[in-house]
Amino acid sequence: MTATPANLPDVDAFTRPYWDAAAEGHLLLRHCAACDRAHHYPREFCPYCWSEDVRWERASGRATLYTWSVVHRNDLPPFGERVPYVAAVVDLAEGPRMMTEVVGVAEGDLRIGMELRVAFREDGDVAVPVFGSASER
Ligand SMILES: [Zn+2]
Repeated sequence: MTATPANLPDVDAFTRPYWDAAAEGHLLLRHCAACDRAHHYPREFCPYCWSEDVRWERASGRATLYTWSVVHRNDLPPFGERVPYVAAVVDLAEGPRMMTEVVGVAEGDLRIGMELRVAFREDGDVAVPVFGSASER
């Protein structure tokens, strides 16, 4: 097993489907058949009702912007080379709230509630979900 750089996620047997789907441009969520709710980050049991009847489902990729912060300084590699960037929390259409990054939107154009759509950024061996404006697609 090769060591994962500090900035990249560890991929294990449980999260492998998530990263495989991301590499193909699809965002996966965990969906609970018992209470019909989706959650993120992925867990092996439902965080709402504790059921283990939880499966992967493909998300629509649609989200709205809940909040954000423009990061101008980060000393942790590789983020220092990326500043400024927009660290954000988005509300996925399926319900879960997700920490991510907004890309391709000028700082002055960011608005609470703006419609976003998932995109994927190649980051080493993995594709990381980020969000861009839905209206520019
Ligand atoms: Zn549940």
